[in-house]
Formats: sequence, structure tokens, C-alpha cells
Amino acid sequence: MTPTEKLAIDIFSNRYGTNLNSRFEKLKEESDELIEAYNDYMLGDGTYEHVIDELGDVKAVLTHISGILQIDQDKLLLDAIIKSEVRQHIPNFKRKNDPST
Ligand SMILES: [Mg+2]
Repeated sequence: MTPTEKLAIDIFSNRYGTNLNSRFEKLKEESDELIEAYNDYMLGDGTYEHVIDELGDVKAVLTHISGILQIDQDKLLLDAIIKSEVRQHIPNFKRKNDPST
């Protein structure tokens, strides 16, 4: 965990608590804001800076959720890369209907 991630997790846990369902709701809200900002930008009715600002909000909530679950974000990303690579050969790898998991 980087010092910046630790700072974010400490601040957000104190400010917003550690209830995961609450954090998942916040993630949905911020994801919707990101999509809206992007669509506005593509329509010429928004700014690139607003898109990046909303992306930062999504990243902040994901960082907080990762911290609550005590999962290293680099490990999450690496596992996702590996899963994507394996799915090139085994399409159902780690899916619900994957008989090997
Ligand atoms: Mg936002």
C-alpha cells in the first residue's frame, strides 16, 4: 500500500465509515457521474477536466473499498491482468460457471 493510498483510506474511513454496502452505493454513484461527464464531454457539453475529476472520485472509492477489505491494489490489478490473459485460452476462467473453480 502506498502512503497516498493509506492516507486516503484513513480519511475516507473516518469521514464515511467502513460499511461496504454504503461504499458500493457510492461507487455506483461515482461511476454514473463518470459516465455522464464523459458523455457530456463527447457531446461538447463538458470538459476533459470534469471527466478526469470524476475518474478520480471512482478511484478514491475503489481505493477505500480495497482498504476496507485489506486487499493490495497492485495484487488486484495483477490478478485481473492474469485472469484476462488466461481467458484468452479458457473463456470461462473464474466465471460462475467455470467447473475448475
Ligand atoms: Mg463525483
